[in-house]
Amino acid sequence: MEAQTSPTSSILRSRLAELTELQKHLATQPYSIVLHLKLAKSYKYLGYPDLAVGDAYKALLLIDEVLEELEYYEMALDAAKADITSFRAHEIASRRPDYHVSEHVECCCISLVDDDEAEAIDDVEAVTWAKTCWSKTAYDILVEGLIDCGCFRSAFDYNTRALKAFPYMPSFETYRETITLKLRTYFKSTGENFDTIDVLDYPDKGLVRRELYPWNEYEPDRFSPESIQFLNKEMTSVAPKLEVKVANLPLLSRKDEISSASSFPTQQVHHVKQLGVFAKQDIPPGEQILQEKSLLTAISRLHETYCDACVATLPASTDAEVDSKEGGTTIACEDCDEVFFCSTDCHDLAQAQYHSAICGVSLEQKVPANEASDYLYSLLLIRTLALAEAQEVHPLMLKEVRYIWGDYHDYLGINLHRTWNADSRGQLIDPFASVPHTLPFSFSNNILTPLNILEKMDVNIFEHSHRYDTWIFNTLYGKIRGTASAKQGLDFKPEIAAVHPMWCLTNHSCDPNVSWEWQGSIKFWTREKLVDWKGRDPKLQPGILEGEEVFSHYCDIRLPVKERREWAVGALGGDCMCTRCIWEEADGDREKGVAE
Ligand SMILES: [Zn+2]
Ligand SMILES: [Zn+2]
Ligand SMILES: [Zn+2]
Ligand SMILES: [Zn+2]
Repeated sequence: MEAQTSPTSSILRSRLAELTELQKHLATQPYSIVLHLKLAKSYKYLGYPDLAVGDAYKALLLIDEVLEELEYYEMALDAAKADITSFRAHEIASRRPDYHVSEHVECCCISLVDDDEAEAIDDVEAVTWAKTCWSKTAYDILVEGLIDCGCFRSAFDYNTRALKAFPYMPSFETYRETITLKLRTYFKSTGENFDTIDVLDYPDKGLVRRELYPWNEYEPDRFSPESIQFLNKEMTSVAPKLEVKVANLPLLSRKDEISSASSFPTQQVHHVKQLGVFAKQDIPPGEQILQEKSLLTAISRLHETYCDACVATLPASTDAEVDSKEGGTTIACEDCDEVFFCSTDCHDLAQAQYHSAICGVSLEQKVPANEASDYLYSLLLIRTLALAEAQEVHPLMLKEVRYIWGDYHDYLGINLHRTWNADSRGQLIDPFASVPHTLPFSFSNNILTPLNILEKMDVNIFEHSHRYDTWIFNTLYGKIRGTASAKQGLDFKPEIAAVHPMWCLTNHSCDPNVSWEWQGSIKFWTREKLVDWKGRDPKLQPGILEGEEVFSHYCDIRLPVKERREWAVGALGGDCMCTRCIWEEADGDREKGVAE
């Protein structure tokens, strides 16, 4: 089948071309409300409701700038006037309003069409546009996108505001009904009564597309000689006996493919190229072979308990005035006195590489227990942003994340030409254009919080859209979620997390040849004893021979196959297809066959 030339494919191509054209204008028109609305629509028609929400939200922020005369008032006002001027010129030429006419019957964008005399736009007119036409368009895209992404609490919240501002608008009435209907169904399924539920308890997260966006120019070719060379330089400094090479990894089966795959599991394993870690020489059992410290870490609470940089447990101290001069004691940041370090090394690294950008910025947030791990991931994202700001590099270029594979469904749009689907009139089949969506998303974690924190870090989020945009946050989440290790506190709530970029290059197996420990640095040992399971080649012994791949584990390998796979699915982005899993799954099927 020639997918590349199908009509759907050409719709996709032209929409992508439109989008990248609009993205280019961000550099010269960062304060344009209209540009953000156009971007939002463009993302929406490409099946990225989450990215549409991001730009609709930025449009609302700019509308606030114009209406409330905030920090970027002058720039936002100038941009608004320029937008009206160009809209007028264009509309008078075409005599056709740009928006859905029914929603803009009494809108400034319609009445202007009759106005032949091009006059200078005054401030009042810009305010009128911001308050009416742009505001309702922004709310419209925002609320619809939030509903599509499963963020009902936020959708309800913004729709309530929209209804207050535009009581006559039928689309907001329709959204209200849709939200109520969806919530009723949801709470029916959980056995609760929707009418007694507080708004704060409405579900507010969903799944969005997880892909290497076709316009992402920052992703390196991890298999190129330059990439491998860079990674090996890094690897040698933390693990002199190990090297990074291209490995053949069994392709993970996706959730939606499981039903068809499970009948003949052994025949469904395809291999893909992936990076792996290999022994440069024979290594006997029980030898430490890697020690890596990362600054891409997060602590969800009790800042005085862990080193802010490496998250090593700090010596217990009842004294607020911690003695920083003595070796081995806790050092506080001299400016904010809110974060603590285990050593001068960690303190100096932190100040040089991230803390200076975020010193004094409070990250405190009340988080319900069931959102604790999502919150930890969002803190890792914020640390990434701080690393990028302090070092003045693009967040996707940071060495901590650049070479991490984000478990994308799609690589630069290659598969999109098969999966992306619209009908003959160009209407998307569903909000995600029928592309799989597996990346956890919430309005708070993927848009609101990162933008809020950046503003607190004195970053101009409008002029820095090329560094800090929703698609960049999503890409970082893909990378972080696939590789972060997390540890629970005494109450079993996840408390600290970290991404160790070298360590996470090792692939997973439920029959690993190394064990690891994470206490500040992360360490690897060759296993003294291999995991006990029936199907292994009896010739395999502990220790690693030269040229053999190092296999770590991302889940509790004492569990049975089904539970192991459930644990690892988040980190692997699909079912584990290691030799042991495949054998044990087939073994289970054989036993079932005997029983029947
Ligand atoms: Zn209008
Ligand atoms: Zn430390
Ligand atoms: Zn500080
Ligand atoms: Zn496995």
